[in-house]
Amino acid sequence: MKQIVFALTLLLTLGIFGYTVNRIAGFFKLTRKNFPVKDYGKRFRVMLDVAFGQTKIFRRPVIGLLHALVFWGFCVILIGSVEMVIDGLAGTDRALGFLGIVYNIVIATGDVFALIVAIAIIVFLSRRLFFHIRRFEGIEMKRSTHIDANIALTMILLLMLSLLGMNIFYVAQQNISGEMISGVFPVSRIIAPWFMGLSSATIHALHEICWWAHILLIFIFANMLPYSKHFHVFMSVPNVFLSRLEPLGKLPNMDNITREVKLMLNPDTAFAAPATDAPVERFGVKDIEDVSWKNYFDSLSCTQCGRCTSVCPANITGKVLSPRKVIMDVRARMNEKGPGMVKNGNFTDNKSLLRDYITEEELWACTTCNACAKECPININHPTLIVDMRRYLVMEEGSAPGELKSVFSNIENNGAPWQFSPEDRLLWAKDLEIKDK
Ligand code: SF4
Ligand code: SF4
Repeated sequence: MKQIVFALTLLLTLGIFGYTVNRIAGFFKLTRKNFPVKDYGKRFRVMLDVAFGQTKIFRRPVIGLLHALVFWGFCVILIGSVEMVIDGLAGTDRALGFLGIVYNIVIATGDVFALIVAIAIIVFLSRRLFFHIRRFEGIEMKRSTHIDANIALTMILLLMLSLLGMNIFYVAQQNISGEMISGVFPVSRIIAPWFMGLSSATIHALHEICWWAHILLIFIFANMLPYSKHFHVFMSVPNVFLSRLEPLGKLPNMDNITREVKLMLNPDTAFAAPATDAPVERFGVKDIEDVSWKNYFDSLSCTQCGRCTSVCPANITGKVLSPRKVIMDVRARMNEKGPGMVKNGNFTDNKSLLRDYITEEELWACTTCNACAKECPININHPTLIVDMRRYLVMEEGSAPGELKSVFSNIENNGAPWQFSPEDRLLWAKDLEIKDK
């Protein structure tokens, strides 16, 4: 009976998860192509360093260490969850126990990490609930955003407590029956004797309750994540693997502009170019269909930690720009427009990412210093998106702040950003005694 109930629950979980994955895959199809994914060796090294090594998070040592412990704990505990699925389907108990010493190490690490993660989550929750952390504030951090974060943290805490409960009552159960304990439980072994006064049936029932609570929480959590900021639990590692490998300051060229310039510089090529009926692409980014798949991937991976905004010079000096908001807006806009576009490609709701979500003032406040991208623990690159939105403003609408407009017209007329004729360019050196060779 337990196996049938478990199999049905697993099926339902996978069904809902499959629906969500399919929905998100449909959104990805709406986005633009981006850089080709190659250099797998280099990407793998970056992933080991930034994602698994959590190196960027350690720039804030105390809270960074706690976060890293939670991440590493999750990795180990995930292996234990695989065993629970096998046990649930096959009706076994600790099915991977035959792995011997490897099993003992994994179970012991998981047992210790369950306690560490629980403590870390209590610290995280307390910070959010009782302390005024500037990083967690801003116009993009709405009430619903905070509720979402608190619910996810509470779920993780319950996951860890149910895991510890399961281990504790398993050890107590085996001690009472005198059967061999499969695995090593450094924490649960200490706590289990506290419950030895309970009857064997009660301990068995408590073990079953914790087992079911833990696996059901995993199933519910897995299906909640894609709709929560905690989707980064799934997305952050692949996002780091797929991050841009070029130096931060290097802006990508626009392929369509590069092609046009090449054609202009070489008329032979221009005339030789085959006529095409392909619709003219929009320059830059105006709405969600213009963003690249990587921009959307970034938005799904964002942990909303605010490290980017906390180092942004524009934000620090009181400008409206918050790089975290820019990334969160991409996800919000896709959730708003994506379903309509998946149903009907030409869908329009007379809104756009530009202006309805991200204002021109925000975009022009960016100094493209790349501090945000450098600080982001999962290698999200904000400036490339900001610059792409500016490209739309300048190339499609001719819209730019007044100072920039004069720079553009000076470049066009004088070949330089200044208001002087090219003939006057060397006037400054007139009275200097520079010998003409
Ligand atoms: S690149 Fe722009 S958004 Fe990022 S930190 Fe610098 S000013 Fe802020
Ligand atoms: S973009 Fe990066 S640094 Fe900024 S909030 Fe998201 S995860 Fe944190």
